[in-house]
Amino acid sequence: MDFQFGEKEEQLRKEVRQFVKENLPRDHIPAMFEEENSDETWEFAMHIAKKLAEKKWLTMAWPKEYGGADASVWERIIFGEEAGYWGIPGVGMGVSGTAWVGPTLILLGTDEQKKKYLPLISSADPDGVWCTGYSEPNAGSDFANIRTRAEKRGDHYIISGQKVWTSAAHRARWCWLACRTDPSAQKKHQGISLILVDMKSPGVVVRPIRTYIGFHYFNEVFFDDVKVPVENLVGQENHGWYHLMQALAFERGISVGTSASCRRMLDELVQFCNETGQIKKPEVRQKLADITAEVETLKVLAYEAAWKMSTGQQVIYEPSRDKAYGDGIMQSLGRIGTEILGAYSQMDPMNKHNKWSKIKGALEHMYWMAPGLSIAAGTTDTMRNIVGQFGLQLPRSY
Ligand SMILES: Cc1cc2nc3c(=O)[nH]c(=O)nc-3n(C[C@H](O)[C@H](O)[C@H](O)COP(=O)(O)OP(=O)(O)OC[C@H]3O[C@@H](n4cnc5c(N)ncnc54)[C@H](O)[C@@H]3O)c2cc1C
Repeated sequence: MDFQFGEKEEQLRKEVRQFVKENLPRDHIPAMFEEENSDETWEFAMHIAKKLAEKKWLTMAWPKEYGGADASVWERIIFGEEAGYWGIPGVGMGVSGTAWVGPTLILLGTDEQKKKYLPLISSADPDGVWCTGYSEPNAGSDFANIRTRAEKRGDHYIISGQKVWTSAAHRARWCWLACRTDPSAQKKHQGISLILVDMKSPGVVVRPIRTYIGFHYFNEVFFDDVKVPVENLVGQENHGWYHLMQALAFERGISVGTSASCRRMLDELVQFCNETGQIKKPEVRQKLADITAEVETLKVLAYEAAWKMSTGQQVIYEPSRDKAYGDGIMQSLGRIGTEILGAYSQMDPMNKHNKWSKIKGALEHMYWMAPGLSIAAGTTDTMRNIVGQFGLQLPRSY
């Protein structure tokens, strides 16, 4: 790996820091999954997303003709690092739209689909917020097992079935839905299609699922004979499996935001230890040093994946490698952080304004929520299977 940030990237870093100063409260520290939870946090996130959109940062990787900035890999890395470190809200606008719905539509969508959906996402319009309907009660890692059915009748599909763990469905206008269009296909990964569903359609019901600390982040979504026009099919009918592999590659992306947000937590923790004198304890210093080494390693791994992309090399297993590694780091940091904070980390995690909470309860949140991240977007085991198969050329394990 051989690279260095140029003047253009350093200038962007300065601009993002200035944006943070002007638009976020001085003591802003985000808690994981908090944006979608309350109307207040969601409105603030959408307000910031609008400002990011005006600067073309929200979808900076997209081509200019679709509302992006044609940003280089390194500009995206700089923005991802700064957004992760400062916890800029609204960056993902419910995540699905900016990160994988838009990029997949740019590759596979019809001209009409691009015209209709991409400007809504890139301008942070509330009608440009998406959720993703892949998982079902009997289909998670074994995604090809999905049963939600889309039956073609003339110029529309009739959709029936259930999705689960659907992040931001209660905030989304659209669902990026995987469903079965050919139940007689010989292999279960065949006969799947990808369809765009208006969440305001009659027959769509969203029911909240609260996380074990009480946040409303994901949902169950029921489809009861929902009528969807055939022009909402993405790509080819029954080829959804292959289109979804592309969308998942966009979803797993580069882990630079994870390493930057961990670095922020670490910096806050070191400051707490300095202020309270805990830094004098050798066991505390050892824990901080150990986790720092891991966070920095994750950053270098993310840089390596970015460097490969910037030199035109294929990045296949690297995002899975980095996700598997990053998942573990967040859990370790949550554990080490709460150990060091001691009783201060026992506050109600739903109330970050509690006067006894330190670092706005963010480390406590990490402790509680990081295990969920090692399940979202493919479990750590699934990531390791991908590394084994594509990174080490081992035979498939399943
Ligand atoms: C925070 C969060 C947000 C989410 N958001 C969404 C969303 O927006 N949309 C959506 O569709 N889904 C979403 N999900 C669901 C997520 O994609 C699934 O939970 C995930 O794919 C795992 O599926 P599962 O829960 O059915 O577990 P299972 O697949 O049943 O896995 C259970 C255990 O078995 C292991 N396992 C399974 N198969 C293998 C194998 N072949 N080899 C080794 N180990 C294996 C897994 O690693 C895991 O430890 C979200 C989940 C979380 C936690």
